[in-house]
Amino acid sequence: MAFESLTDKLQNVFKNLRSKGKLTEDDVKAALKEVKMALLEADVNFKVVKQFTKTVQEKAIGQDVMNGLNPGQMVIKIVHDELVNLMGESTTELPLKPSNDLTVIMMIGLQGSGKTTTVSKLAGQMKQKGRKPLLAALDVYRPGAIEQLQINGDKVGVEVFSMGNQVKPADIARAAYDHAKSTGANVLFLDTAGRLQIDESMMEELVAIRETIKVDVSLLVVDAMTGQEAVNVARTFNEKVGIDGVVLTKMDGDTRGGAALSIRAICGKPIMYVGMGEKMSDLEQFYPDRMASRILG
Ligand code: GDP
Repeated sequence: MAFESLTDKLQNVFKNLRSKGKLTEDDVKAALKEVKMALLEADVNFKVVKQFTKTVQEKAIGQDVMNGLNPGQMVIKIVHDELVNLMGESTTELPLKPSNDLTVIMMIGLQGSGKTTTVSKLAGQMKQKGRKPLLAALDVYRPGAIEQLQINGDKVGVEVFSMGNQVKPADIARAAYDHAKSTGANVLFLDTAGRLQIDESMMEELVAIRETIKVDVSLLVVDAMTGQEAVNVARTFNEKVGIDGVVLTKMDGDTRGGAALSIRAICGKPIMYVGMGEKMSDLEQFYPDRMASRILG
């Protein structure tokens, strides 16, 4: 599970802080130095770590905290609150239109990030919430992608719209949109093609889809286990095509947690969901406060 070693390290720092009655400025500085090291080792973005420890230090070194009844505890609370701030204060809901209207959600990301898996999990959740989702297979390049989507769609009981792999993704998007309208679906998920790395043709294809039908939400899927690479991918996608939110997959296998703590600060877009496993039920909404509590252990 994510954050194991970060949690261990922070707990050590905090144990020391708690064991002291009064705190001196040097005590706080020394503790924050260790927090900084722990965050860097967790692969949190360097700029984010710097700003984070600066803010915590400004808030912690003051008469109120240091002369308070329980200074160690207060410093821990400041760290907790700043972690929450870093990840986005509150949870960000997927902005869905009312049920009588169609919301189009485009899933984007690199190959292997978990896009096809995630889009199916999300469609399953929508169905459970009483929506009528439709999955559209736009990944015409990766061998087996369409079949994989079909299998997942069957698992979650959601219809999959496909036109094979000889039709242009933008044309499939248009036909899927019309199909959704005519069958009364109210959430259309577009499973677009990923590449091994970000390239021009991928960006052009995404733009072409958006020029063909009105996409309401662009969700980027990134692999937590790639750490700062995931953060770079998020920043680049946001700059080049624009995204509304992020799904961070494979959090179950990520012991460091650097991507979760850096993405929002670096690309300005919230993490909306986290993938916690390969099963269709392994997708959770992202709650910054719960995540901060989990990190602090
Ligand atoms: P795509 O190329 O982006 O469509 O990626 P896939 O959806 O095919 O996923 C790539 C691999 O990652 C598959 O083996 C998935 O089962 C796996 N995967 C996706 N999400 C998660 C997750 O949250 N946790 C774990 N452990 N594996 C995941």
